[in-house]
Parts: sequence; C-alpha cells; structure tokens
Amino acid sequence: MNIPFLDLGAAYRELKTEIDAAIHRVLDSGWYILGPEVEAFEAEWAAYCEADHAMGLANGLDALILALRALNIGPGDEVIVPSNTYIATWLAVTAVGARPVPVEPDPATHNIDPARIPAAITPATRALLPVHLYGQPADLDPILALARQHGLAVIEDAAQAHGARYKGQRIGAHSDIVCWSFYPGKNLGALGDGGAITTNRADLADRIRVLRNYGSRVKYVNEVQGVNSRLDPIQAAVLRAKLPHLDAWTDRRRAIAAAYAEGLRNSGLILPHVPNWAAPAWHLYVVRATDRDGLQKRLADAGVGTLIHYPIPPHMQAAYADLGFAPQALPLARQLAGDVLSLPIGPHLPMADAARVVDASRVACA
Ligand SMILES: *Cc1c(COP(=O)(O)O)cnc(C)c1O
Repeated sequence: MNIPFLDLGAAYRELKTEIDAAIHRVLDSGWYILGPEVEAFEAEWAAYCEADHAMGLANGLDALILALRALNIGPGDEVIVPSNTYIATWLAVTAVGARPVPVEPDPATHNIDPARIPAAITPATRALLPVHLYGQPADLDPILALARQHGLAVIEDAAQAHGARYKGQRIGAHSDIVCWSFYPGKNLGALGDGGAITTNRADLADRIRVLRNYGSRVKYVNEVQGVNSRLDPIQAAVLRAKLPHLDAWTDRRRAIAAAYAEGLRNSGLILPHVPNWAAPAWHLYVVRATDRDGLQKRLADAGVGTLIHYPIPPHMQAAYADLGFAPQALPLARQLAGDVLSLPIGPHLPMADAARVVDASRVACA
C-alpha cells in the first residue's frame, strides 16, 4: 500500500487539455503582465467568493501584507492573530512593522477563540486577523461584533478556505478584507505561486490595485511606495481552468472527511469538530493523538503518508525569539503542535484509499 499525503500532479493530469490550452492562450497573446487573463480571473474569483472585488497578487503572504498596508497598519500598531496558525499570518504583521498579539484557539475547532480576544485588545490594537485554519471557518460573527465595538478592522486569512461557507455565505467578503493563496497545494492551486484579495470595500480594492503595481495607476506616475506583487497571467489562466472544478473537488474532500468521521469514531483519536454553522473546505483533515509521533510512524510503515500542521507554533520559532515569549506561554498552541496529525485528503484521493487509511489508522491506534 502506498497512499501519498497529497498527489499534487493529479489535478493537472485530470485537466491537462484545458490547462495546456489556457497556458498557450497566454503565450500566444503576447500579454504577460496583468491584462485580460488576470482581469477575467479576478472577475470569476470575486463572483465565486460572493465578493464585489478581487485583486490577483503574487502569493498569499503578499496578500496579507498588502491588506495590512491598505489599512495603514504599521509600527506601533498591534494585530490580534491566532497562536495556532501557519507562520505566514504572523510574518505579514511583522513585515509591516506591527506587533502580532496571539490569542489561543478554541480546542474543539483549533481556530481562534473569540471569547479570548477581548483580553488581548489594547489601545494599540488596530485589527483582528482570524485564520480559517484547515479550511474550517473561524467563528466570524463574534469577531466582527468585537471589531465594531472597538473600532477595529478585520482581515481574514483564507489561504486554506477556498469554497468554505460560514452560516451559508461563502468565505470571501464577511469582513473588510479577505486574503487568499493559490500555492500549488491549496484547494485552488496554481502551478506556481499566486494569491488574491477579495473585498466588498471599493476604497480598499483601489488601494490594493495601486500598491501591488509599484504604487502606480498610470504608468510612471507613482502615488505611493508600492511593490511588485501581481498575479502572473499564466497562473491566472491555470486558475481559470481549475475554478469550474473546485466545487466538485470540495465535494470529494467532504466525502473523504465523512468517511474518516464515520470510520474513526471511537478509535481513540480526537476528530475534527464541525460547528453547525460551518461548511468547511477540508483543506486538511487533522486528528489529535496522544502518541502522535508513534501513530505517524506506524502509518508510514503501513504506506500512509501524513504531515503535521504545524510542528512548531510561530511564537516558538527562532524567527520570533525577539518577541520574548516565555517557555510556558500559549500552552494550547504548544499542545496542538505536539499532538496533531493530518491524514491524507484531496480531490483525487480514491475513496477506496480513504477506506484503507481508516483501516490502517484503527490498527495503528489499537
Ligand atoms: C499558505 C498559507 C499562507 C501563505 O500563502 P503563500 O501563497 O504560500 O504565500 C498564509 N496563511 C496560511 C494559513 C496558509 O496556509
């Protein structure tokens, strides 16, 4: 048995004809920066996300950085982030010179716990930055209510949440600004780097369009100190070929998640908790196990590939030694880093393989 954690080439093999044609359309067009292909993808992605505006960017980290810059967040400001997230969420905050203020997760969902946010708000707080981790929507309503109450912006890190729904509405425009990654392994992935922002705020959409393109609206006229962070038209064409398949791919992820939930009941593993208002995108299927490292090794011996998301929380990374967190700080994030394990899930994982993962996991837990 050999079940990889994720078969990255499978989506290309499924859509080779469409993707090859899309790439050649760009090559033949002679238009290689922004232009009609990027604009068409932006319109299609905005519509998919039920948002008024979408801006194609170079990657997901840049989307977060430009979101913060569009809101004029910088040195002296604080941004509330999850303690349990991929480090990119924090890196964006420190990249603009602001301070990440971590809040621990709800242990049931692994997402930021809204009840713990008020204690972290100070006069320097400017924004709340929830992450829809593993494609599980964060509980946005209490976060948006806190933001209104304290006059804060909300930025969503939706890099893992393509197609997820919160209370029936697609992730994409609940808050001020929503940040996307199209890194190849994401639910909607390019064949290289890519990212985007969606928003219903015309003012922020306009600022981001200017910031991503050297701070320029008219060639050689620079209004602000922008950057070069534009979605590549070849990647936009690839994403346009894939987007019509995203919902079917999400359905397959849901079917795998349902098979795991059913097959791993009473296995001793802690399974994902899905609140009744959440329709997750199932980017990852994350279980918790007391002997996580042993379980991962036994699954590897049985031919099942797994990964750990994430083994070291941001506050314990050498990169953030300067923030000076105590060894006992943020115990929930540390505990999750020690016991989470991501099982194989993806739109091209055969259901028969999902059944084998269940059997192997039950044996490995016994
Ligand atoms: C992937 C990811 C990012 C960064 O996206 P890139 O396109 O790789 O820069 C940010 N946040 C989260 C939660 C992610 O999973």
